[in-house]
Amino acid sequence: MEIKKNISLKPFNTFGIDVAATSFVEVKNTDELKLVLSSNELPLLILGGGSNLLFTKNFNGLVVKNNLKGICVESENESEIYLKIGAGEVWHEFVLYCIENGYAGIENLSLIPGNVGASPMQNIGAYGVEVKDVITEVEALHLKDFSLNTFSNEACDFGYRSSIFKTSEKGNYVITAVTFKLNKQAKINTSYGAIDGELKRLEIVNPTIKDVSNAVINIRSSKLPDPKIIGNSGSFFKNPVISEAQKNIILANYPDAPNYSQPNGFFKMAAGWLIEKCGWKGKRIDNYGVHELQALVLVNYGGAKGSDIYSLSAQIIESVNSKFDIKLEREVNIL
Ligand SMILES: Cc1cc2nc3c(=O)[nH]c(=O)nc-3n(C[C@H](O)[C@H](O)[C@H](O)COP(=O)(O)OP(=O)(O)OC[C@H]3O[C@@H](n4cnc5c(N)ncnc54)[C@H](O)[C@@H]3O)c2cc1C
Repeated sequence: MEIKKNISLKPFNTFGIDVAATSFVEVKNTDELKLVLSSNELPLLILGGGSNLLFTKNFNGLVVKNNLKGICVESENESEIYLKIGAGEVWHEFVLYCIENGYAGIENLSLIPGNVGASPMQNIGAYGVEVKDVITEVEALHLKDFSLNTFSNEACDFGYRSSIFKTSEKGNYVITAVTFKLNKQAKINTSYGAIDGELKRLEIVNPTIKDVSNAVINIRSSKLPDPKIIGNSGSFFKNPVISEAQKNIILANYPDAPNYSQPNGFFKMAAGWLIEKCGWKGKRIDNYGVHELQALVLVNYGGAKGSDIYSLSAQIIESVNSKFDIKLEREVNIL
């Protein structure tokens, strides 16, 4: 294990922001993790793939890049398999491994950047599936007493882009492994409109999980900027959840406003639509801006400062608030 000093974090965040970290170390197992943590007195950042972060300044502390690998079959029967996956495994590679082996459940979450360890953090979701639907347990090391704890699905208190690790236990744990329950008999979920359309376009009538994954990959690649080409962190904001009364006020003025009813009587509005209606879509300021195809995505065209992108996000929040009386929340973690 080598502790590097004063290194650039540019290769370690998909926004491609060039800030420095005082110290940086990559850990491959829990013993290395404990060793590093027990001798550290600096502010700490646990890093996965860096795809849900915006650095607005240098990080004056220790960055621990979680590279805990491993795929382990915990148990299986004719219809299900339980897999325990190291936090440092790359999410999309894990998805491809499942597809290769015929384990269904996460094919709709194809091509989401980042690592397995971060997937429970914000309960990643896409195309009608959330990772909470397949997580049975999360293993995490307490950052103070170094105890290894197991959180059941229920104990994780998953919500929309949220879990206990982003709320009451924020900053208290490093996730070391995640256990998933996957189906050996595929239960295909193509209810999310665009998937059905893409499968039709491909003339696939009885899709396999590989077909669904490919359809999702095609849709995502056509809509979202590739971070290797244009720096970004995916959706910068969460879709706001509002009351029925508030939704009706918006619909009175904008009958086409996309909205999705929630189980609790509330409605989820499309943040991208709200931002677009405020005129931000495709707006470019110097070397950063709002993506031309997806207003939810803020982008770094090269060499932008995180603080500028943060200011842009503040202007967008202000503008949506004054037009629609809705306060957008950032999905991306700001540092
Ligand atoms: C092009 C693009 C598309 C995206 N699409 C989606 C999408 O469809 N759905 C979706 O939900 N998200 C999406 N995202 C966001 C992102 O990919 C996910 O949130 C992903 O899970 C982040 O993983 P990461 O390893 O990169 O986390 P990082 O960015 O490295 O970390 C994110 C946060 O989690 C913490 N963290 C990371 N690993 C651990 C760990 N092991 N233990 C404790 N804390 C940890 C970090 O400290 C940080 O606070 C997208 C991002 C991009 C760039």
